[in-house]
Amino acid sequence: MIYDCHMHTVNSDGKSTIYQMCESAIEKGVSGIAITDHADMNFYESRDTYNRIKGAIAQIRQAQEKWADKLEVHCGVELGEYLYEPSSAKKILGLTDYDQVLCSIHLVPAARWEKPYNRIDFSNDGTDEELIDYMRLYFDLLSETVDAFDFDILAHIACPVRYMTTRHGRYIDVMRFEPKIKEILKKVIDRGIALEWNSAGLRFNEEIFALYYSMGGRLVTLGSDAHSYENIGRGFEQFRSFLKECGFTHYHYYKNRQPQAVEL
Ligand SMILES: [Zn+2]
Ligand SMILES: [Zn+2]
Repeated sequence: MIYDCHMHTVNSDGKSTIYQMCESAIEKGVSGIAITDHADMNFYESRDTYNRIKGAIAQIRQAQEKWADKLEVHCGVELGEYLYEPSSAKKILGLTDYDQVLCSIHLVPAARWEKPYNRIDFSNDGTDEELIDYMRLYFDLLSETVDAFDFDILAHIACPVRYMTTRHGRYIDVMRFEPKIKEILKKVIDRGIALEWNSAGLRFNEEIFALYYSMGGRLVTLGSDAHSYENIGRGFEQFRSFLKECGFTHYHYYKNRQPQAVEL
């Protein structure tokens, strides 16, 4: 049984419509998907976030009816940069009764690079020390954001490292931030928040998930972070085999903001 808790449609930066996402999920034999379009607070006005997410929710509600007997469609949102504009974030969170809310950081307010990290060319910009400082800022901001609001799933922890390493060839050992990662994981575990296995960044999931398990964390979700229908459920087998090897017996998806356990 595959449940994928993180994906985007044309209602944010995805390439597929919700219709295409649902049809494809059914074709692939996926049991459930959560649609989690972006609501990044840094771009709240410029990306017409309120109306866009409102429209996305209406489409999700229609999809839930249309495919009721074939696919579980869950209503989610990926809330980015909560601390940048909490009052706007609260408006988004108040739009509907979501099944799940993801917490993300996409932009670190570092003087040198003040744009989302997926648009920074780290390949020959900045010394290793500056990249490490950037990651420190990232983890500090993430830790503060985790404290700031009520959400269900911590999305793609350590994500900038994935861009630095896989896209720009700048290797940074993510475990050099282990004390900070542990601090964040402890908060997540104590609060009953799930940790997302983001299958777009496999290389780092394993170390962090092993640490999470050793600390007693058991709530885990799969997030393909698909931006087009082809990638729904991506990396599920790898996710399952690693988790089983680690000792996990279940993974989760969310309905009405409650984790639902699925045997691995
Ligand atoms: Zn994200
Ligand atoms: Zn995403």
